[in-house]
Amino acid sequence: MRFEVSRALDAMEQRLTTDITLAQAVVDVAQIVRYADLDGGRTASLLRLGLVVDALARHLHDGGVLVYPVVDRALTSDLELTSNEKMVLRRWADDGLAELLPQVEDRIVEIADITGLPVVSRDDFARFGAAYPWISQVPGWLLAPVPGIGGAALISRPSGTPVPRPVSPRARVLERSWRCNAFECPLFGPARVYDQPPPRLRGGVPICPVHGQQLQDVGLRPPAVAVAVRVGEAMRGRFAVRASGPTVVGRSPEDPAGVRLGPWLDERAAGWVSRSHLVLELQGDALVVTDTSTNGTVVLTRNGPGEPPQRIPLSRGQRRRLGQWDTVELTEGVTLGTLPAMLESSDGGADDSVMSEAPTMALRLPPR
Ligand SMILES: [Zn+2]
Repeated sequence: MRFEVSRALDAMEQRLTTDITLAQAVVDVAQIVRYADLDGGRTASLLRLGLVVDALARHLHDGGVLVYPVVDRALTSDLELTSNEKMVLRRWADDGLAELLPQVEDRIVEIADITGLPVVSRDDFARFGAAYPWISQVPGWLLAPVPGIGGAALISRPSGTPVPRPVSPRARVLERSWRCNAFECPLFGPARVYDQPPPRLRGGVPICPVHGQQLQDVGLRPPAVAVAVRVGEAMRGRFAVRASGPTVVGRSPEDPAGVRLGPWLDERAAGWVSRSHLVLELQGDALVVTDTSTNGTVVLTRNGPGEPPQRIPLSRGQRRRLGQWDTVELTEGVTLGTLPAMLESSDGGADDSVMSEAPTMALRLPPR
């Protein structure tokens, strides 16, 4: 069982990011982990994060959803968690997959304000309403977990039809790229030039949420768009295409920064998809695809969401600007496109659970 638990934690890890181009919700991890009534299990369990990721996948009809975890540091010394769970939390923070902080509530509302992402938590954050009026006014910014089908469900708060939030003036901080000079900073170090979290803002000054140091402005952050990959019925990978340069996608691109689809392909698909199959570029607000493959690429162009596609084949060297609802087929069953276009072109494959590896037993251990 221990082995299966670590497989479930590994699967969960694939769904974590602090890159705001890719994240689709901010998760208040300690609130979820300590919510024993969610599954009737032990007092604290990291596997509950997996239940919530699955619930979010169903809520958004997106089986490949990525979440931005913010973790109360007290959780890493919580006696109710196993030593393995605590080690995993610390590793996620060291790898820049989660923020581990002594105080999380004000940071969670700050990230939500700057990015416009929804928050998954049991907290209502009402005490921050004076600083952030949308907390009490805008329906659906908060997703409260409750016990439900498949382990957990999410309820939109405040109630009402969810609407987009007004863009915060603080969002301007995302137009720049920032650098933290602390040694090996996992969030704003040299390895994360553009795929960054939002800085903390203290009196309008950007600081590192982990180290508290003032961040250095290292230039313009190019616009970016999240691209989703579907293989068969399941949403698989997610990657960012940035206006700073082209992104190579294929079975196994030579470009080390390329997107490697190989691990997700079956034998037939692997035979059709070239090592470097296509190149994506972000020009203005549109993706441009260039075929670089042996067997060709097909653009599935649509006039509107859910419309049947018209197939436009591209052969090597041909390029095409994608419309808002267009997707790209590398071979039958392997498609990619912007998240809205992908979600409108299928059911999203929300049944691709991160918890499939987790034994039911692990969630039902009696409290000690
Ligand atoms: Zn730092």
